[in-house]
Amino acid sequence: MLAMNYRGPYRVRAQYKSDPTIEHPGDAIIRVTRSCICGSDLHLYHGMVPDTRVGHTFGHEFIGIIEDVGSEVTTLKVGDRVLVPFNIFCGSCFFCQKELYGNCHNANPQSTAVGSIYGYSHTAGGYDGGQAEYVRVPMADVAPIKIPDDIHDDDAVLLTDALPTGYQAAEMGDIEEGDTVVVFGAGPVGIFAAKSAWLFGAGRVIVVDELDYRLEFVKNYAQCEVVNFKEVGDMALHIKKMTDWLGADVCIDAVGCDAAGSVAQTVTGRLMKMQAGAATVLHWCINSVRKGGNVSIVGVYGPTFNAVPIGNALNKGITMRMNQASVKRHVPRLIEHIRAGHIDPKAIITHRIPLEEVADAYHIFSSKLDNCIKPILIPPRAYETTRPVTNSVSEE
Ligand SMILES: [Zn+2]
Ligand SMILES: [Zn+2]
Repeated sequence: MLAMNYRGPYRVRAQYKSDPTIEHPGDAIIRVTRSCICGSDLHLYHGMVPDTRVGHTFGHEFIGIIEDVGSEVTTLKVGDRVLVPFNIFCGSCFFCQKELYGNCHNANPQSTAVGSIYGYSHTAGGYDGGQAEYVRVPMADVAPIKIPDDIHDDDAVLLTDALPTGYQAAEMGDIEEGDTVVVFGAGPVGIFAAKSAWLFGAGRVIVVDELDYRLEFVKNYAQCEVVNFKEVGDMALHIKKMTDWLGADVCIDAVGCDAAGSVAQTVTGRLMKMQAGAATVLHWCINSVRKGGNVSIVGVYGPTFNAVPIGNALNKGITMRMNQASVKRHVPRLIEHIRAGHIDPKAIITHRIPLEEVADAYHIFSSKLDNCIKPILIPPRAYETTRPVTNSVSEE
């Protein structure tokens, strides 16, 4: 099959590799019909994630058609159209029972701290991802969700990570009626966090980024105020000026380790790798939130540490929450929001690129070319029909 193939930092290509097979009776094989490139894939692409091996196929945001199932799979059958949460989880451990699916204790044999994620290096389990024609889904009875007939493929693929992650960012912010919420990052997750903040009762939403085209998009899409940090001297001071000198009630980090905006953080975090990426946005969150406020982190940071102003957080009495999104927990509620017209996920898709051109897709997304917000990859076999013909009686 054709699959995205990692060759080293800033080098990926589409290449043929063996089709995945059923390795365990609980596995399913999915023929991918859509996969996204995620902002967090760029951390892999930029060489920020430890143990990213040459030959690995990325892609944790994908949907498709069930092509084959192992003998123990009972809830799915060949031909089912499914979305697959980015978390790989067992469904039965201590953490899964608490619906902390991103923290499953069984799915990642490499680590007890990091959960398991498709196509996200051997640090996150070493499972190949869905930027491919086919993907193996382990424990297939547990995570995949059948896509309702009235939900569009383009909306479904955004339910695998970007939308639930943005939504959970707002949820973890513990927003109270009328709160001022500042979202750092106007990528897909930040855009969905801003949109979701209103659903949780925000009274004011401000989004911060450096790319004017993304700020313009989010201003219209989420009806929020925007700040370009390149036009601002001191970020925390600016947010305080905007909030009667109190600071924001809630700050959301939707950026993570690849942040721009601070020379010191860029040098120590991204270039010299003396810490796990640049913690610029964590500084901004802690210093911009009001005393007693909440900081919610969904931007991705890696092992093992970042230099963050924990003393400021302590002295201000800040509550900090963070996690990988527990995708499956949010999907039923988000489908209701889509049906009710509260949120239109597919509106953020700017690029549809054939899987064969995956190298160009990464380059465009990474370099923020062509006003790119969310690129999706279409594999060559996406539209083949494999549904078995079960009725041979003619229609007459
Ligand atoms: Zn993602
Ligand atoms: Zn588990």
